[in-house]
Amino acid sequence: GNQQRVEANILLLGAHNVGKSALTVRFLTRRFIGEYGDIESVYSRVDRIDGQNICFNIWDSQFTQAGEKQLQWADGMILVYSICDRGSFDVVRQQLQQIRGGRKPSSVPVLIVGNKRDLQRYRSVSSEEGRLLALSQRCGFFEVSAAETYHGALLVFHRLVDLVRETRALR
Ligand code: GDP
Ligand code: MG
Repeated sequence: GNQQRVEANILLLGAHNVGKSALTVRFLTRRFIGEYGDIESVYSRVDRIDGQNICFNIWDSQFTQAGEKQLQWADGMILVYSICDRGSFDVVRQQLQQIRGGRKPSSVPVLIVGNKRDLQRYRSVSSEEGRLLALSQRCGFFEVSAAETYHGALLVFHRLVDLVRETRALR
């Protein structure tokens, strides 16, 4: 069989408390454990997708602004905000400005993810706003609840890896 292994370095960015660790742990273990602490770490998981072994290296960061080193490392990025935290959405805007709007705009695949979708009552960022921001910056967009389902986290990471592979194929 085809034992080729594809590495995909995925960087999560976002304000504190939006659920970056919850999404990462959901994807890695299928579980939601509620409290995650503030450990900065890179985790790996290998999935077989379309007959290829894809190694996800996931950097669950504490950065609000990505440094040069993080931008160099990442093959794809997930910018996370909480749908009930307007400030966290502004942080995503700033991050996009840094990634896409700099002197050398990066074409790295980016997904914008509105988390905590289960907390509808406290929503302060509409789905439309999220979708429009993503559209204007050539990003994918998802709303998910790391607390409620595994499915959303799986979709997000798999979609990003598809984009990373497409980007590589074009090079
Ligand atoms: P991080 O600082 O971005 O890594 O955020 P965490 O993953 O540590 O999550 C921050 C807090 O939000 C924790 O108390 C989580 O249990 C909670 N949380 C994370 N995702 C969700 C979600 O989808 N829904 C709800 N209701 N709470 C969540
Ligand atoms: Mg965390």
